[in-house]
Amino acid sequence: MLTLALVDDDLFLKHRAPHGHPEHQGRLIAARRGVESVQGRFVVDRLQPRDASFEELVTVHAAEHVARVASTAGKQGAFDPDTYFSADSYAAAVRAAGGLLAGVDRLATGADYALALVRPPGHHATASRAMGFCLFNSVAVAAGVSLERELRGRPVERVLVLDWDVHHGNGTQDIFYERRDVLYVSLHQSPQYPGTGAAHECGAGDGAGYTVNLPLAAGADDAVYEAAFERIVQPVIRQYQPDLVLVSAGYDAHVRDPLGGMAVTDAGFGAMTRRLLDALPDGGRGRTLFALEGGYDDEGLQGAVRATLEGLDIQGGAPGEASTDWSPSRATELELLVDRHSRHWDLSS
Ligand SMILES: [Zn+2]
Repeated sequence: MLTLALVDDDLFLKHRAPHGHPEHQGRLIAARRGVESVQGRFVVDRLQPRDASFEELVTVHAAEHVARVASTAGKQGAFDPDTYFSADSYAAAVRAAGGLLAGVDRLATGADYALALVRPPGHHATASRAMGFCLFNSVAVAAGVSLERELRGRPVERVLVLDWDVHHGNGTQDIFYERRDVLYVSLHQSPQYPGTGAAHECGAGDGAGYTVNLPLAAGADDAVYEAAFERIVQPVIRQYQPDLVLVSAGYDAHVRDPLGGMAVTDAGFGAMTRRLLDALPDGGRGRTLFALEGGYDDEGLQGAVRATLEGLDIQGGAPGEASTDWSPSRATELELLVDRHSRHWDLSS
């Protein structure tokens, strides 16, 4: 049976949302229900998350940003109209980042996969700014810190961040835009908040080609996402050969989500998971962590978390060919993306 390292902490419930805010405590409860529904299929190893240290946070964040977020401890307010903080938000954000680090550590000592159910989310936070419900960029911190470490006796030299949240992870892109030791691959709705993530944003300098944006028009369903994986995401991952994979697992592309405009079902998230693992040696065992980002419908969140975990069990063999049952405009959209990313990757097969 597969061992799943589970990062969770009641402190994440104490990041208390203002009334009516979509990024609220109930999301964590819903995600937990998703995990509970597959118990028995995994050996679930519940980790005691730790706090990220100042030194770990500043591998990707400016010291002034860390200080600014720290100064909110014990207070209530907002960084911008979207991005609130409550008395324990700083503590929760530090533990969210540290929780991912604990998850990676556990992969290094024998867990097959890791799932981090953390709040606040992180992928919009830039090196110097909290935004889009995000205070610290936990996935970016985990990538930055892991590159200075070993995983199962080997140095971590290449980290893949795969971001399937419906919003573009501008913060993660920004932090690693000129680096090739972190490959950032994002599938997101376009146009949508925060407005970044065009296909021509491919990285710069040493990082040219190591940002792969797949902006998709509203309404994309399982078939569109699966085709994007088959034609672009999977070949890119196979060529990059990451030592560590961090999935910015937002579930707001779910058909039920009130913020996103996509049509991905539970099964679609399971299919993306299987395709990711299919592109990794040994099914990504010992090197793959999923971290909760967005996802604002409780039922959708629960079902999609469950489907992600079910997707980890790849005894069923390799995924079949993606369906091509879609409109001509979708076919054109995909061909344009293939063409764009063929400048840096071999997408001919
Ligand atoms: Zn999102």
